[in-house]
Amino acid sequence: MHDGQSSRTSRRSSRSWSGYNTEDYCSPIPYRERPLDYEPLVICKCAAKAARWISWSDEKPGRRYLKCFFARAGGCDLWKWYEDNMTTPFIAELLRDLCDAVRALKKENKTLEAGIVAAENAAQNAVQNAEQKLYEEIAFLKNQVAENEARNAILIASVKALEKERVVLRILIVVCIAVVVGLIFSS
Ligand SMILES: [Zn+2]
Repeated sequence: MHDGQSSRTSRRSSRSWSGYNTEDYCSPIPYRERPLDYEPLVICKCAAKAARWISWSDEKPGRRYLKCFFARAGGCDLWKWYEDNMTTPFIAELLRDLCDAVRALKKENKTLEAGIVAAENAAQNAVQNAEQKLYEEIAFLKNQVAENEARNAILIASVKALEKERVVLRILIVVCIAVVVGLIFSS
């Protein structure tokens, strides 16, 4: 009956929907009035005030209805339209299209948000990996420096020992020469 009807076949009926939570996927828009903020009072079989919801079904978009507030938790079967149908076919189609547009944007928004979260996680992981590599490199370099310092200390000790030996050798040579010269002159 409408040009856009075929594109709407996947749209699920929200006839059984209830809930005024603005986060609720089923409602394309937040409720301006809470479900119990209406007069005159309508009492259901549970002796509780019936809740007034907005239908987002394909058949009656935007029309309000009354339903047992506890319907989801095993309440009674109260269900009736709150008001007469004042929607024209054009307005109904407009509401369906707007509803679809809002839901499509919400879906797109969720996808984008998920993409942002994934990108943030990837960036965080990359930073953590880079930091980890840097820490490992710094630890390796520190280790190298410590090894070099230990090697230098050994070399310095060796040089000092050699210098001591050289001094002793010089003294021995001088003593030997003195002994030889003494022997030559005494003979
Ligand atoms: Zn009830």
